[in-house]
Amino acid sequence: MQFGKIIKVSGPLVVAEGMNDAKMYDVVQVSEQRLIGEIIELRGDKASIQVYEETDGIGVGEPVYSTGNPLSVELGPGLLGMVFDGIQRPLDAIREKTGNYIHRGVQAPALDRDKQWDVSSVAKTGDKVTGGDILAEIQETTLIRHKVLVPVDITGVVEEIRSGKLRVTDVLARIRKADGSIAEVTMIQKWPVRLPRPAKQKLVLSEPLVTGQRVIDTLFPVAKGGSACIPGPFGSGKTVCQHQIAKWADAQVVVYCACGERGNEVTDLLLEFPHLKDPKTGEPLMQRTIIIANTSNMPVAAREASVYTAVTLAEYYRDMGYSVALMADSTSRWAEAMREISGRLEEMPGEEGYPAYLSYRVAEFYERAGKVKCLGSDNREGALSVIGAVSPPGGDFSDPVVQATLRVVKVFWGLEDKLAYRRHFPAINWLTSYSLYVDALGEYMRDAVGSDWPEVRANAMRLLQEEEELEEIARLVGMEALSEQDRLTLESARSIREDFLHQSAFHELDSYTSLSKQYLLLKAILAFHAAGRGAVSDGVPLEVLMRLSIRNEVGRAKYIPEQDIAKIAEMEKTMWEQVESATRQAASETNGLR
Ligand code: ADP
Repeated sequence: MQFGKIIKVSGPLVVAEGMNDAKMYDVVQVSEQRLIGEIIELRGDKASIQVYEETDGIGVGEPVYSTGNPLSVELGPGLLGMVFDGIQRPLDAIREKTGNYIHRGVQAPALDRDKQWDVSSVAKTGDKVTGGDILAEIQETTLIRHKVLVPVDITGVVEEIRSGKLRVTDVLARIRKADGSIAEVTMIQKWPVRLPRPAKQKLVLSEPLVTGQRVIDTLFPVAKGGSACIPGPFGSGKTVCQHQIAKWADAQVVVYCACGERGNEVTDLLLEFPHLKDPKTGEPLMQRTIIIANTSNMPVAAREASVYTAVTLAEYYRDMGYSVALMADSTSRWAEAMREISGRLEEMPGEEGYPAYLSYRVAEFYERAGKVKCLGSDNREGALSVIGAVSPPGGDFSDPVVQATLRVVKVFWGLEDKLAYRRHFPAINWLTSYSLYVDALGEYMRDAVGSDWPEVRANAMRLLQEEEELEEIARLVGMEALSEQDRLTLESARSIREDFLHQSAFHELDSYTSLSKQYLLLKAILAFHAAGRGAVSDGVPLEVLMRLSIRNEVGRAKYIPEQDIAKIAEMEKTMWEQVESATRQAASETNGLR
């Protein structure tokens, strides 16, 4: 282990000389306390090192040891249900070692070395295997079957494979490679976090990641394997939104990266998540979740690593053929870490002091999302959807991090504090938000939900836009200036907002809505507008239409349980019937008067 000497310490940045043999991004251990750091700049024999632990008391002249390896994570069974810090140290195991306050330089392996797993081999002796093929399976948790894959760089013939009780470090298989050498494969594999894990092919996105959140799935859907951004000011509901997606989205595995949000929020997450139940199975949600949380005593640099750690773990489960959702909350803290380190390296600052490569790093991160054909010969497909929260100062969306994110992601859910003050949740602004997946998902939605889904969605969007224009007119010249038809539009748009878009995360029946229920609800609401237009032009007063009993029923329809959605399907018909009957009655009253 070659070593250099510290010549400068500046917060999380340490400069060492005598580092001739070191490589960029090598992990090093700093001082006798062996603090973990990563080389982020090399000039001659001087290395700038980003240190992932507090550097107080570390001084000039102390040694730096090189490990010769890039920052890597351990992949294998035992990741699910765990809470790791930004460099994959298991927080529970560390707490056992050192108590609540994590001491510097503590090391603990990410995967439990003593646990014995019940391994069922899938490959057989004599099989020809290649990187990504499934060697064995393990019931990792009650919800997820772990697939042990042939490491990506190995091709050969299985000489020996074991089943039964094995530890992660035991040799699971011996594979004879083409050059005659033997590769011993264990259940632990290491992967450098900054390198995307390979797949055979990226696939076109055509299926939605169903979240059960109506404003998302119907108006601004994200594709399975897609990426989305939730920017919003403090208190606008980013965290609740991320939790809802973690809980309800049809992803089999969730990786939640709490990258340095305010300490108490991380605590909330750690207190709350272990109690959440997977709604589909009733099992604890942690059975299919991994949390990466930066503790408050970890310095800013560790946040920089945490998003890479998280996305690498997420890719690993994608490679097994699962649909994985990665939630990063909040990527602004990650960007701030980049800014701090860049400042200390005295790099030329870009906008707002962020480094000029901010956009590049953000793009690189979101581009790890995707639906892929996995490596291996069985044609399995996996998907990684990435959802990043951004918390711009003052909720200002012109912030460089928001802008850099919007250049790569295809969905923007703009949270607004005005809506949150009005207690309209989720506070996603329906006029500024967008999804570029709407067309790509059209065919799926037509087949799976309803052949007129694109029209239904477009009608709802149009009404919401008209509402904005009409309100502007009403503000200028008064409500009286609006025609009865205009007021019908306002009333229909209000119903879309209140009866459809508004969704309580905390109401048992409202928290999740299936795609079919979303579609039927919206159709029933839109029927009021479609039928009402004819009625109003036939002279039926809007007040009469507003009093129709079916309107109350539609207003409460979101609380109808999923198994009874046939009742919602009936409502569209009833709406037309009641409006027509009101029209007939109005006509007969007019005739009576004549
Ligand atoms: P942020 O992470 O943006 O600071 P939070 O996600 O913590 O904001 O949300 C703030 C509060 O808003 C929550 O405590 C909750 O009371 C309310 N809220 C947010 N979203 C919803 C929702 N979908 N349903 C009901 N209440 C919500």
